Amino acid sequence: MIGCLFCKIAQKQIPSKIVYEDDKCMAFEDINPQGPVHILIIPKEHIPTILDISESHKDVLFNMYMIANKIATEKNIANRGFRLVVNCNAEAGQSVFHLHMHLIGGRHMQWPPG
Ligand code: AMP
Ligand code: ZN
Repeated sequence: MIGCLFCKIAQKQIPSKIVYEDDKCMAFEDINPQGPVHILIIPKEHIPTILDISESHKDVLFNMYMIANKIATEKNIANRGFRLVVNCNAEAGQSVFHLHMHLIGGRHMQWPPG
């Protein structure tokens, strides 16, 4: 998708601090971290929002959760606790329209989120 920031990151046209990569997904550090750990997990395929998923995406979506588990374990926040967030559209504050899962942890979090 021309002009999409996360497509450019996935294609390494824009640098990022990559923490995981395979042929279908990538995980990299958020540029504006909201906690000691803040990683974004993305499909390399351009999917604008969670509303745009279909049956064909089930493997990549499962893999995104498995990558979250792996990174949470590696960063030693799995047992302490962490949060996975997918913002969708304006009221949730989605600012990049390429599906991404936030993995945030390393601090105590409040509920409900702001
Ligand atoms: P959202 O508001 O859910 O769309 O999240 C977009 C996230 O992308 C925000 O947390 C931003 O800090 C992050 N972000 C924006 N640009 C970059 C970038 N170049 N590298 C890493 N993270 C970024
Ligand atoms: Zn994209």
